[in-house]
Amino acid sequence: MNNEQLLMLRPDVAGLEKAAAILAEGGLVSFPTETVYGLGADACNDTAVAEIYKAKGRPSFNPLIVHLADVEAVTDFCKMNDTAHQLAAAFWPGALTLVLHLTEGAGVSKLVTAGLDTLAVRVPDHPVAHGLLTAFGGPVAAPSANPSGRVSPTTAAHVAAGLGGKIDAVVDAGECHVGVESSIVSCVGEPALLRAGGIPVEALEACLGQPLAVPQDPDVPAAPGQLASHYAPQGRVRLNAASAEEGEVLLGFGPVEAALNLSVAGDLTEAAARLFACLHALDGMGAKRIAVSPIPDHGLGRAINDRLKRAAAPR
Ligand code: AMP
Ligand code: MG
Repeated sequence: MNNEQLLMLRPDVAGLEKAAAILAEGGLVSFPTETVYGLGADACNDTAVAEIYKAKGRPSFNPLIVHLADVEAVTDFCKMNDTAHQLAAAFWPGALTLVLHLTEGAGVSKLVTAGLDTLAVRVPDHPVAHGLLTAFGGPVAAPSANPSGRVSPTTAAHVAAGLGGKIDAVVDAGECHVGVESSIVSCVGEPALLRAGGIPVEALEACLGQPLAVPQDPDVPAAPGQLASHYAPQGRVRLNAASAEEGEVLLGFGPVEAALNLSVAGDLTEAAARLFACLHALDGMGAKRIAVSPIPDHGLGRAINDRLKRAAAPR
């Protein structure tokens, strides 16, 4: 087990203060929730969020769930409509994630939302998660604390076995009791079940007094590049471009002359952290044709290239 560099923290006041300090410095801390152990980072820190993808070895940038201490904190970042209030009153804290309209200027990293204007939020029902979120005092982005493609961890030992040497600390509070992921309900438009999970769909529907829509799997596109839930820039995108042609705006990587550069230093973590902000900036510039420098296809470069390929697919 490669966990020499992994700090094991106790779930007491000192341990949670240390964990919150690591998050505030942009570090990665795994913490228990009632569902599984999460891999947490400051949701407002682009680089810290990029480190989540790096540590997990995720080959794509799916939006992440943001964890908050209570409903009041949620209203600082999202607009809660009637559906959201009803579900929150019945199931929070708990194993339910709500997708809500993001409040503009709330400061959440675009890498958390994958550039979307919606945010997935959850108030976990676990005293240690609650203690950490309170001590940190801000939104914590957290997918499950396992390497991509591996089983979700329900003990600190699982986290250490999978991510030891790749993250800063884990708060050890024994086993998670739900053991499956949260149910996800979109409250944007018609209420819809995006993922079945810890809260039974019957209970959700009984609460709302109506059936939940079950959209087509948002990750299975009707046609290439038509992922409703995936942000893509307005302009046409050409990949692996050595330089911009006439009429193109270059999104650079490395030491190239470009209108915008993902990372002049050629650093993949920096490039991941800046990706969605750059895509939005290209829209802001009214770029109709976008050329993108080659990005190395390893580490975070794979997730960056996955997203750029989707942006470049015919629409
Ligand atoms: P996990 O990585 O297991 O925490 O899962 C996060 C889930 O939440 C994924 O299925 C995401 O697609 C989903 N999700 C997060 N944010 C959004 C959003 N804004 N809209 C729709 N789905 C979301
Ligand atoms: Mg997971």
